[in-house]
This record gives sequence, C-alpha cells and structure tokens, in this order.
Amino acid sequence: MSLAHGRHTLAIPGPSVMPDRVLQAMHRAAPNIYTGELIDMTHGLVPDLKAVAKTDGHVAMYIGNGHAAWEAALANVLAPGDKVLVPATGQFSHGWAEMATKLGIEVEIIDFGKRDVVNPARVEEALTADKAHAFKAVLLVQTDTSTSAKSDLAAIRRAIDAADHPALMMVDSIACLGCDDMQMDAWGVDILVAGCQKGLMTPPGMAFVFFNDKADAARDRMTRVSGYWDWKPRANPSFYYQMHCGTAPTHHLYGLRVALDMILKEEGLDQVLKRHATLASAVWTAFETWGQDGPIELNITDRAKRSNAVTSIRIGAPYGTQLRDWLTDQAGVTLGIGLGMAPSDDPAWHGFFRVGHMGHLNTHMLMGTLGSIEAGLTALQIPHGKGALAAAAEVCAAG
Ligand SMILES: *Cc1c(COP(=O)(O)O)cnc(C)c1O
Repeated sequence: MSLAHGRHTLAIPGPSVMPDRVLQAMHRAAPNIYTGELIDMTHGLVPDLKAVAKTDGHVAMYIGNGHAAWEAALANVLAPGDKVLVPATGQFSHGWAEMATKLGIEVEIIDFGKRDVVNPARVEEALTADKAHAFKAVLLVQTDTSTSAKSDLAAIRRAIDAADHPALMMVDSIACLGCDDMQMDAWGVDILVAGCQKGLMTPPGMAFVFFNDKADAARDRMTRVSGYWDWKPRANPSFYYQMHCGTAPTHHLYGLRVALDMILKEEGLDQVLKRHATLASAVWTAFETWGQDGPIELNITDRAKRSNAVTSIRIGAPYGTQLRDWLTDQAGVTLGIGLGMAPSDDPAWHGFFRVGHMGHLNTHMLMGTLGSIEAGLTALQIPHGKGALAAAAEVCAAG
C-alpha cells in the first residue's frame, strides 16, 4: 500500500516549491504588452531584485535558466582566449568552467574537491603568481548545490585584494539568493548571477545578472558582445522591448512580483534569511542524529561551511537510491539526486541524496519531509540513530 496520495512535495534544490499565490498571479489572460500595468510592474522589479542582492549596481533580466545566466555573464566581459581562474567546490563550479571553455575562454581550475569550501589563501597564491594579470576573472559559486558547500565570499574578496589583482570577481548564487546572505556591494562582488526558481520561488524561466560599474567598464572594453546576451540594453532600456530583447516573459513577471513582495514586504529579507538558517539547522540536527548510528553522514562536516539552502547526504549505495525511490512511491516526497558526486552508472552514485530547503518552506513542510525520511529509513531497515525528529522539532521550537 502506498501513502503517497496527498499533495506531493518537492524537497529538491530547485526548482523549489512555488507559493500558490505566485502560481495564481501567473494564471491570467495574456496582458497588454505595450502600455500600462505590466511595464510599470517590470520597472518596479529592478530595485527589488537589487535589494535582495544588496547592491546599488545594475541588473539585467533574461528569459532563461541558470545556465543562461552563466553564459550571459561570461559573454559580457570575456572573449575567446581570455583566461579565468575557477576555484571549484563541486559540479556547478565545473559546469560554469565548462561553459567558459566552450566559449573559447581558457580555464585554470583549483579543485577543492567535493567536501570543502574555497580556501581563500589558495586563491591569493594563484593570483599573486599571476604577475602579468592574465586572469581576467575569478569564477566562484557561493553555494555549490551538488555538495552544499558554501564559500566565504568576503574572505575571497580580501584574498583577491591582498594579491592586488584586477580580476573581476564573478559569483554564481543561483542556489541560494534569498536563502544564504548575499551582500554584493559590501563583499565587492563585481558580477552576480541568479535564477528565479530557487530562493526566489518562481517557476524556472528567468535569470538575472547583477553587475557593478567596474564590470560594466570591462564590458565596454570588449570588441564584440553577443547581441542577445549584451546586458547594456537590458539594464538601461530606452524601450520596454529592449529590456527583454524581444517578447517579455509576461507571466513570469507577474509571478516574480508576488514572490518579491512576499520576501521584501511581507516577511522581510532579514526574517527570510533567519527562517532559512533555523530550518537548515533543523535539517542538520536530524541528519546528525540519524548519523549517530549507521551509514548517514553529512557531506560537509563543518556547519559553518554549509549552505542554508540545500544539504547533501552520504548514505552509501544502494541506500541513497532506495530511500529516494521509497519516499517518492510511498510518501509523496521527492528528494534530490546525488548530482555530480559520481556518474549515474557508478554504484557510488546510489549512495548520495540531497534535501532542498529553499524558498517557500515552513516548519510543517520541513518536518513532513524529515518525518517521511524517518519512515523510509525504518521501512528499508537502514540503520540510523534515534530521536532525530524530536531533536529537529526542538530546533524549530526554539525558532
Ligand atoms: C541550479 C543551479 C545552476 C543551474 O541552474 P539551471 O536553472 O538548472 O540552469 C547553476 N548553479 C547553481 C549553483 C545552481 O544551484
């Protein structure tokens, strides 16, 4: 018998759970795209997106997913033959690096493996050694969604400055904008890329590139920038049409408007970040308790290096796949796959899973997922420590 026939829950690191109000805002007839509400509303999104990233810089909106944001950012400031440094903390660092390679950019990777964050000292060393300033940019991922490692961007900025190196600091915060704190200006991030479908609670389809004046000056030095990815007409549009380089993502704009209202006006960004921190702590407490007996282990052992948006778990093959399948079939919960930990035909791949805890998430949703995991561990007779749910509930109770 399956007990999965209620509302299904997606507990994966993106797309995240969409608030009903966001979906309802999108469920409407095609709007007037020439004048009126849609245009005013779109211009109003700009300051609110910048508020979430804590920047007074610029933002360009694209129709696209996170991969689009990656390419957009690269296309504005890097030409074939340019060199970039990629301190890598997992699959998404390597993915962005690979995209750069495909654009003819020369990539040098410092690999920090799958269980650690970027060590700023190694970045400083690599940049100090680059006397000729060949590196035009450093590509960083704030939270690598595959490993759930969250690097300290302020410390990396200090490392770049200590090396007295002019490379642009480019950051992917697609996984965690609106979940982990982002202080683009205070931390000296030059270019920041994000998508709408994780912390920003909107169905996949919009991507954002934030940039400061230093990055814009680098854009101006380019001899050629792809017409579609060029951020100039999007960030300072003389026509509404230019802002989107074609037809606007009309319904996404309505959805995003509601999502940003929920974050900034109703709950407040500080509170949103605190909620993520508390719920993440409940997740970690549960897994740490389960891990006291049996094979469960958090991929990132140090709490200070973990993201508040996603948690990667090592449980050993074949338990990872078994547990994910059980939760989908028997409990109506989908957990994240062990992305990039190993190839899917490798038995090791079946020993990982991830829990997304980003965006539209509260105590009852999270406790439901954790309780379902406990049921799965019990049903599958996977050894685990006792008392995880009580321990997680205590974290939620303390608020
Ligand atoms: C999800 C994600 C991406 C890719 O986004 P897509 O929308 O799947 O293209 C890139 N980087 C990070 C850190 C992510 O979490």
